[in-house]
Amino acid sequence: MTESVLSAEAVSRVFATGAGDVHALTDVTMDVAPGELVVVRGPSGSGKTTLLNLLGGLDRPTSGRVVLGDGRELSALPEKEVLEVRRTRIGYVFQSFGLIPVLSAAENVEIPLRLLEVDPGARARRVAEALELVGLSGHAQQRPYELSGGQQQRVGIARALVAEPDILIADEPTGQLDSRTAATIMELIRELTHARGLAAVVSTHDPVLMQRADRVVELHDGRLAEPVPATR
Ligand code: ADP
Ligand code: MG
Repeated sequence: MTESVLSAEAVSRVFATGAGDVHALTDVTMDVAPGELVVVRGPSGSGKTTLLNLLGGLDRPTSGRVVLGDGRELSALPEKEVLEVRRTRIGYVFQSFGLIPVLSAAENVEIPLRLLEVDPGARARRVAEALELVGLSGHAQQRPYELSGGQQQRVGIARALVAEPDILIADEPTGQLDSRTAATIMELIRELTHARGLAAVVSTHDPVLMQRADRVVELHDGRLAEPVPATR
């Protein structure tokens, strides 16, 4: 078996609603290796967000397991331990960037380090490094509204990586960007995934962006379709 940082084993998620059970995800098995960018594609409603939430420890499966590289079952850990894993091991990038409007770029990036109670000197250094990593060193003091959409998402990526996670989860990170900016953001995610040995799971429905994946998995009605060969 190859080394994997994160795996889903026969994972299903059923939502109970007033209108009956919704089978959002059915029997999905996949894993992600270090330095591998896996893109999850599929039409709206196919289960992409549900899958990423399970892989990122934001939700728990109805059946099946989500397992970390160290053998711990994320989907069965007590909430406190899940929180710890989320803070230290997993970086999240959001479609709508998720930045706090009244904080500068640097202050937004600093948030995960404050939660981890990193001391102020080390925080400043690591924030500067993270902003540098995404090409925003000159924009540290700007507020989100003073930045373009692409720059805001770069801040989002810096914030996701500042605590040096080994897993990156990004749910349609380019969904609000024009196609050219989307391509540069996807390329940045790809470069960082490879350079930092991240296990990255990114959802998108843009076929152009899928070309940057190491592997594409496809969801249809909550089920994994046949594997799609990597295009590069
Ligand atoms: P995608 O991200 O691919 O658009 P989702 O994972 O958001 O798909 O949704 C998959 C299916 O699960 C959809 O039918 C959606 O309506 C349903 N679903 C997602 N979350 C919930 C929820 N909290 N309660 C009920 N149904 C849900
Ligand atoms: Mg979604």
